[in-house]
Amino acid sequence: MTTLFISDLHLEADRPDIGEQFLKFLKTDASEADDLYILGDLFEAWVGDDDPNTHYFTIKRALRKLVDGGIPVYFMHGNRDFMIGGGFANETGVKILKDPCKVSMYGQKVLLSHGDKLCTDDVQYQKIRKMTRDPEWQATMRAKPLKDRLRMAAEARRQSLEQTLNLSMNIMDVNQKAVAEVIRKNNVDVLLHGHTHRPGVHTVDLGNRKAKRIVLGDWYTQGSVVRWDSRGPKLEKIPR
Ligand code: MN
Repeated sequence: MTTLFISDLHLEADRPDIGEQFLKFLKTDASEADDLYILGDLFEAWVGDDDPNTHYFTIKRALRKLVDGGIPVYFMHGNRDFMIGGGFANETGVKILKDPCKVSMYGQKVLLSHGDKLCTDDVQYQKIRKMTRDPEWQATMRAKPLKDRLRMAAEARRQSLEQTLNLSMNIMDVNQKAVAEVIRKNNVDVLLHGHTHRPGVHTVDLGNRKAKRIVLGDWYTQGSVVRWDSRGPKLEKIPR
């Protein structure tokens, strides 16, 4: 009996090796699990559920198969695929979660998050995040023709890459104050997130008690997963 957590696969047609590993993961590990949580950035870009991208179609079909096989799959938006909506949920049977989301794992209270919201030192990014998560902004976006959205996404990605390269490593990580705050506010034992691509297990000192922060890794060169069973959570690499 195991629950699996993954994030930051950044699937795209240009990186078929990641897609292949993910499809294999769905057929093997995930098929034997109790349920699967995908904590954001499953896709490198998502301009709308109407995108006829054939690579994404293959992934959607595989998720549908897993769900139909009786394995519940949960998805939380990342900063790349925040435009995933009800169409995707209907096609795949995947349930979309709010960020953050509290779950209980074998008696431990766990807060799930993509993690980008915790990077509060990146003020510019937080402004963009706020704008792009506004339902009105998203509705305006969805109303645009697909080809315009694809062009805009390509442009946004180019800019984001430039900005990432220009920012110091420090600012790209989570802010420790924001971490302690969200753990305290939600009264959890564990915070589990991705986004930073810095896999690890950390102790968070809250003064009166200690909590744990588990960070999932990206899937650029290998898989990264947290397997959680009755013995607790285990962060593991999956060789490609
Ligand atoms: Mn991210």
